[in-house]
Amino acid sequence: MTSVTSGKRDFDLLIIGSGISGLTAAISAAEKGLAVAVISKEAYLSECNTSYAQGGIVGIGKNDSPELLEKDITLAGDGINCSEAVRLLATEGPKLVEEFLVKKIRVPFCKDESGKPDLTREAAHSIRRIYHIKDKTGEVIENELIRFAKNHGGIKLFHSHTAIDLITNTHNSRNTQERYRRTRVIGAYVLEESMNRVIVFFSPSVILATGGAGNLFLHTSNPPGASGDGIAMAYRIGAEVMNAEYVQFHPTVLYHRDVKRFLISESLRGEGARLMNKKGEYFMEKYDQDLKDLAPRDEVARAIFREMELEDSEYVKLDARCIRDIDLEKRFPAIFGQCKALGLDIGKEPIPVVPAAHYFCGGRKCLHRSSRCEQISLCVST
Ligand SMILES: Cc1cc2nc3c(=O)[nH]c(=O)nc-3n(C[C@H](O)[C@H](O)[C@H](O)COP(=O)(O)OP(=O)(O)OC[C@H]3O[C@@H](n4cnc5c(N)ncnc54)[C@H](O)[C@@H]3O)c2cc1C
Repeated sequence: MTSVTSGKRDFDLLIIGSGISGLTAAISAAEKGLAVAVISKEAYLSECNTSYAQGGIVGIGKNDSPELLEKDITLAGDGINCSEAVRLLATEGPKLVEEFLVKKIRVPFCKDESGKPDLTREAAHSIRRIYHIKDKTGEVIENELIRFAKNHGGIKLFHSHTAIDLITNTHNSRNTQERYRRTRVIGAYVLEESMNRVIVFFSPSVILATGGAGNLFLHTSNPPGASGDGIAMAYRIGAEVMNAEYVQFHPTVLYHRDVKRFLISESLRGEGARLMNKKGEYFMEKYDQDLKDLAPRDEVARAIFREMELEDSEYVKLDARCIRDIDLEKRFPAIFGQCKALGLDIGKEPIPVVPAAHYFCGGRKCLHRSSRCEQISLCVST
């Protein structure tokens, strides 16, 4: 039986989550002299969405500017974005990738002949500005961050530690009058798996960096741990959650009885692969005459869903046989290899695919706009 003990740890900052958000925050805080704890519920710190990111991360393109990036992000968000947050991201994000990931953490992004980052392009970006490490960008970034954090004396890393709930003055104090004050987060109850007990982490500041919630859905590209724990914990202490209905579905995740969560990259369609229904008809032209198979993700995912409904089918197919002049095995080694292992030669037969929950766009409403809660920030993104 699991017991609650008096096991207790004190830190200046508790970070729940060891992906790119949690570790970046941990390193930045530790460099300012704070004693930081990072906990992850997984047995390996690296088991998180970050490690599965393939394509790359937004850096600085040629003739790029924060204004241009801001415009691209706003367009991609259909104008519903919080403009303050978009501006901050567009102004500070690429600079931080340079200063933090490249210069401090020394992430070995691929370089061009002149020794500058090799820029690639992704959907909704008007120019090439994506830094990448082939199709393993996330895995390399995550491993470098873990290495850096482990070597930093100010950070303690705990794997197999599952946060259950946040501790607040208004919910947990023995002083009844505290419930009439503003809510302050003062720590978290955490299941320490190896001891099978719940312990208390006390900290005047807590950052929730628990990733997304893809596993709420039948199909997802996310690892099993992406179950929305942080949002639920924040909600339970009275935080306002917003935009939770905005979930990006990636149009093409492999549909297979035994292999779940395997992404079939958009770049396959970028090179010419086309979506077909059960009857063998290429259907994207019906939904977007200009962009066809390369329409934005939400449009393509909706079109696939519609075709599945019309045919009462559980998937559609992606035909990579349309790709000409490219050695599929060399250009897409991971996809080629995974499909081959399942007995599918993607050069000879179409790949069964289905849209899958990929990226959770919602989260905790900005702290400074809320009167009830303070000292909690939520980074949810997957
Ligand atoms: C297949 C795939 C491909 C992608 N490709 C790209 C790409 O090319 N470019 C791009 O920019 N983005 C990409 N993304 C999105 C990107 O990976 C995420 O936005 C990003 O990694 C999220 O980082 P994070 O730190 O917020 O969360 P995560 O990396 O998911 O980390 C969450 C952490 O929280 C921990 N956690 C959760 N709940 C608890 C709990 N109760 N107690 C303790 N710990 C907990 C987890 O164990 C984990 O350590 C991709 C995502 C996927 C799934």
